[in-house]
Amino acid sequence: MRLLASLRGMSARGRIKLTYWTILGTAGCIAVAVSINYTLFLPFGEAVRKRAVFSAVVITILLAAPLFFYLTLKLRELAIVNYKLADAAATDFLTRCLNRGSFSARVEKWLADGVDDEAVVGALLVIDADHFKKINDRFGHYEGDMALKAIAHAIRSAVRKTDLVGRLGGEEFGVFLPGATERGAASVAERIRQRVNRVAFRPGGDICPLSVSVGCAAFVRRVGFSELFRVADERLYEAKSAGRNRIMLTRIGLDQPPAPALH
Ligand code: GH3
Ligand code: MG
Ligand code: MG
Repeated sequence: MRLLASLRGMSARGRIKLTYWTILGTAGCIAVAVSINYTLFLPFGEAVRKRAVFSAVVITILLAAPLFFYLTLKLRELAIVNYKLADAAATDFLTRCLNRGSFSARVEKWLADGVDDEAVVGALLVIDADHFKKINDRFGHYEGDMALKAIAHAIRSAVRKTDLVGRLGGEEFGVFLPGATERGAASVAERIRQRVNRVAFRPGGDICPLSVSVGCAAFVRRVGFSELFRVADERLYEAKSAGRNRIMLTRIGLDQPPAPALH
């Protein structure tokens, strides 16, 4: 029954792969069985040899085909479970963003070996929800969680599929924009800020405006994750001190002075 259920839920590509490995495995076994039988029965007459080879083919098909079919099916199920486990281990349960460990690891990997030195351009945004404690205090933790989900959704809606979005902890998110110029990063940060402002968050019918502050570090040279994060976090702190609901940006590299606040 379970076998039938997993067959029914399989994609066309999965079925083709299953058939392919079953046929290939069985054919391999037939080749081995036939060669062994042919060699063993070489001293006997032609008729005996033919019978031996024929029975080797039939018996191998009867035994090997179901075995390879079953093995391939089980290995495929295992691969799917492994993929789901890896995905769950990398994902934040509440917001469905990458969790902190997975986000940092992916950014570090990109910074270390993602591209040639000349093409090392991009930006890290560190985003923190404004006065979030008040939301929890006023509407409770459950509504606070809903607000976090809505903020994560707004952030994701403002970036490309190839950008990385992670929850760094609490009400803080990270966005990594590989290949983004300083200007591009500023416009993504501003878009995120505006989209969060536009979220219609109405816990229990009350309108509750949401906002975020964004610290941004754009880079035009190879840089380590810790330096990048430190600079973006400093800009975030400045955005908070300057009144929140705004973005602050710095460029790392080319010895340029920090860009002015954008909002
Ligand atoms: P600021 O504008 O300075 O960032 O103020 P804030 O209130 O957002 O900052 P603070 O660090 O004082 O408070 C963060 C709050 O975020 C406190 C904590 O209860 C809440 N928080 C952190 N993680 C979660 C979560 O998973 N769910 C909910 N509902 N709240 C969370
Ligand atoms: Mg906050
Ligand atoms: Mg915070």
